[in-house]
Amino acid sequence: MIDVLRFEDHEVAAILAHEVQRQKTTLNMIASENSAPLAIMAAESSLFSNKAAEGYPGRRFHAGCQYTDAIETLAIQRAKDLFQAEHANVQPHSGVNANMAVYFAMLKVGDPILSMKLDHGGHISHGAAMSLTGHCYQFTHYGVHRETELIDYEEARSLAKAHHPKMIVGGASSYPRLIDFAALREITDEVGAYLLIDMAHIAGLVAAGIIPSPVPYADFVTFTTYKTLMGGRGGMILCKKAYASKIDRAIFPGTQGTPAIQSIAAKAVCFQRAMSPEFRQIQAQIVANAKRFAQALGNAGYRLVTGGTDNHLILIDLRGTGLKGNSAEALLEKIGILTNKNVVPYDPESPMVTSGLRFGTPALTTRGLKEPEMDRIAAIVHQAFSQPDNDDLLRRLQAEVQDLCQAFPLYQELDATS
Ligand SMILES: *Cc1c(COP(=O)(O)O)cnc(C)c1O
Repeated sequence: MIDVLRFEDHEVAAILAHEVQRQKTTLNMIASENSAPLAIMAAESSLFSNKAAEGYPGRRFHAGCQYTDAIETLAIQRAKDLFQAEHANVQPHSGVNANMAVYFAMLKVGDPILSMKLDHGGHISHGAAMSLTGHCYQFTHYGVHRETELIDYEEARSLAKAHHPKMIVGGASSYPRLIDFAALREITDEVGAYLLIDMAHIAGLVAAGIIPSPVPYADFVTFTTYKTLMGGRGGMILCKKAYASKIDRAIFPGTQGTPAIQSIAAKAVCFQRAMSPEFRQIQAQIVANAKRFAQALGNAGYRLVTGGTDNHLILIDLRGTGLKGNSAEALLEKIGILTNKNVVPYDPESPMVTSGLRFGTPALTTRGLKEPEMDRIAAIVHQAFSQPDNDDLLRRLQAEVQDLCQAFPLYQELDATS
C-alpha cells in the first residue's frame, strides 16, 4: 500500500515513512494510545471507505449496501457478544461523538448532568466549558478526596441530591484505580437518573475480564476502540434494549451522517480478536506491567497519585523534583520515551504546564515488553529526571531506549515482507 502512495504522492509518502520510523524508534507510554494489528489497518484502509450508507442494516438511504449491511451486522453481533450487551451502535466516529449522542438521545438541551471533574481525571466530553457538551447541558462535577485521591462517592451523592441530574456520568482519562460502578448505580437510582459509563480507556481490560464490566450497571456504556482495546480509531455505544432506537436515531440522523464503514469493518475484526486467549493474556500483562512500573517509580521515590494503579495507567506527581509536567514530557521525548503532561488532583499549575506526568503500558505491552523491561524503563526515567541537564547521560539513555526498540520491534510482520 505504501508503494502505491509513494508512486502517486511522494511528499505524503515521505511524511508517512518518517512517522513509521518515529513509531518504531520510540517507546510509547501514552496511556491513550496503542498499536493496532495490521489486520485492523487492512480493514481500515479497505474499499469500504468508498461506501455511503446512511441509516442502519436493512434500512439504508443508498443502494448497494448488501455487504455494508453484512459487515455492520457482524460488528454489532460481535460487540454484543463480547460485552454481553443488549444493544450496540457501532457507528460513532469517536468517543466524543458517542457521548454527545447519548446526551442528545436522552436529554433536552439545558438538562442537568453530574460527571467527574476534568482536572481530577474526567474528560472534556463530560461537560468541560470549552466543549459543546458544556454549552448544551448544565453540568456539575464530583471529584476525588484530597488525601486518598480516590473518587468521592459521598460528594457525588450529595451533589446528585442537590442538583437532581437527569444523567450521571462515570469514567475517566487519568484515574489509575477501579471505578465503583455499583456505587454510581446506587446514587443514580436514588435520584432517578440515567447512568452513563464512559469506559474509553479501560475497554480492553473490561473485554478481557481483567477488571469488572460496567455493562450490568449502566444504562449506557460508551468507549473508543483504539486505546486498550487495540482496534482502529472510532467510538461505540452499548445500551439496554429499551433505549436502542433512541440511541440509533441520535447517531443517525441526530449527530452524524454516513458511517465510516471501513472503521466498522475494523471494529468487527477488533471485537473478534478481543475474544481470543491471546488478547486476554495481553490485557493481563498490561496491568501487570503497569503495577510493576508503578512499583519501580515508587521505589525510586516518586509520588504516585493514589499510591499506585489497578489498571493500565500511572500518574506521578512531580512536585519537589524540580520538574513540571511539560518539562518532564519534553525531557523524556528527547530520549525516545513518549508520555503526556497531566494535571494531578488539586494541581496548582495550569493544564499547559501541570505538576503531573501520565504513563501507560498498553502500547509497550502490545510490543511484547514485560516486567524486566518495566524496571529498566523506570530506571531510565529516574536517571533522566535526576540529571536533566547531563547531555552525555541523556545520550546514553537514548541509546538504551533504542536497544529496547530493536529488541522489541514494532510491526515485525511489515519488516518481514518488505
Ligand atoms: C479518550 C477518551 C475519549 C475520547 O474520544 P475521542 O473522541 O475518540 O478522542 C472519551 N472519553 C474518555 C473518558 C476518554 O478517555
